Amino acid sequence: MKALVYVGTQEVVYRDEPEPRAPAQDEMLLKVDACGLCGSDMHAYHGLDSRRVPPLVLGHEACGVVQNGSRQGERVIVNPLITCGECQDCVSGRSNLCAQRELVGMRIAGAFAEQVVIPARNALTMPDDMGIIEASLTEPTAVGVHSVVVAERVLHRPVSEARALVLGAGAIGVLTALVLKSKGCSEVYLGDTNALRRQTAEKHGFGHVYDPLQSEPEEGSFDVVFDAVGSGKTRAACGRMVRPGGVICHAGLQDQSEGLDTRRLTLQEVSFVGNYCYTVADLQASIRLLHRGELGALDWIEQRPLSAGASAFADIHNGKSAAPKIVLLP
Ligand SMILES: [Zn+2]
Ligand SMILES: [Zn+2]
Repeated sequence: MKALVYVGTQEVVYRDEPEPRAPAQDEMLLKVDACGLCGSDMHAYHGLDSRRVPPLVLGHEACGVVQNGSRQGERVIVNPLITCGECQDCVSGRSNLCAQRELVGMRIAGAFAEQVVIPARNALTMPDDMGIIEASLTEPTAVGVHSVVVAERVLHRPVSEARALVLGAGAIGVLTALVLKSKGCSEVYLGDTNALRRQTAEKHGFGHVYDPLQSEPEEGSFDVVFDAVGSGKTRAACGRMVRPGGVICHAGLQDQSEGLDTRRLTLQEVSFVGNYCYTVADLQASIRLLHRGELGALDWIEQRPLSAGASAFADIHNGKSAAPKIVLLP
């Protein structure tokens, strides 16, 4: 089969790969229809992810058609987070915290290929009339849904009454902003230093868009701030922008440097919450949002053939892609 293989730092190659191994009883072989390119795939491409060792087929934001077993012929969406299903976190619906967690396309072959093998219980039902691009957006959308659900738990007022700021207009930032809007949050600000991303965000009306290097909104004015970058600079901005008693939701993983004013957090009772991945409930909520069109037109997504995948990686690396998400089609 054809696959896009990460072979070394800043090098992905579209080539012939052996067919996937035969699926076990509790596994599914999928013919991949679409797979989105994620920031974590880029992280691997940059040689910064010690868990993703080349040669490796990356890609985990996928949907496809089942090729074996009782669900043969069914279209499904991949839940790429493989968990044990038995530990305290899994049974209490917080599978994102499972100590045994594993991701499709991390140590096992991913979905930038014509076919992929996944555990059968990681196949989510795809609505009949759902398009493959919407479906492939399920996983990154679930990251946004999860962040907003966590924020809602900590906020003192409903999200619809909150003034929200999202730092980073990549896919996770954009989807977080769109999930906020779908919940009636009318004041959503979006900050990004990349001019192309700002143009896209402005054009599609994702929120009040600004360049943090030029000017910032009023300090201490946001009930909730989402950090979809996770750098020292964005954490510092979170601390400045959040209002007393507000919430900082931290989902980015760019670096672990400092930046957070813990004195302000303490004296002004600001909550700081980490957000990681999503639960199955978040994935199902995402399928509903996308299927009902509640995140608006998805015309900001770019599609490319999987065979041109190397150029997609290179364009994102060079800051030349204006699209917050590129979906690759085998
Ligand atoms: Zn992803
Ligand atoms: Zn578990």
